[in-house]
Amino acid sequence: MSDCIFCKIVKGEIPAKKVYEDDKVIAFNDISPQSPIHILVIPKNHISSANDINDENKEIIGHIFSVISNIAKSEGIADKGYRIVNNCGEDGGQTVSHIHFHILGGRQLQWPPG
Ligand code: C5P
Repeated sequence: MSDCIFCKIVKGEIPAKKVYEDDKVIAFNDISPQSPIHILVIPKNHISSANDINDENKEIIGHIFSVISNIAKSEGIADKGYRIVNNCGEDGGQTVSHIHFHILGGRQLQWPPG
């Protein structure tokens, strides 16, 4: 998707502070952190939202959660806990139409979200 901001980050056309990368995903610090640790994990291939997960591409989700688990450990938040967030669609608060998983940690998080 040529106009997708996260596809541009994948291609290196927009800078991001990467914390992890492999052939399928990248993870980078959120530009507007909502907690001391706020990292986004995204697939390199464009998938617009959770609505677009299907039998063809569902394996990437398991991989993303494996990456999240490793990042939580390397960032030192695994033991105290953290939150994984995927916003889907307008009512869900999704502002970038390239599926992404927020890792939020480093402080006591509140529930429920707004
Ligand atoms: O779930 P939602 O779509 O609202 O999250 C998008 C996230 O992408 C926001 O937290 C925003 O700060 C982040 N972002 C970013 N770098 C950009 C554009 C957006 O980290 N260049």
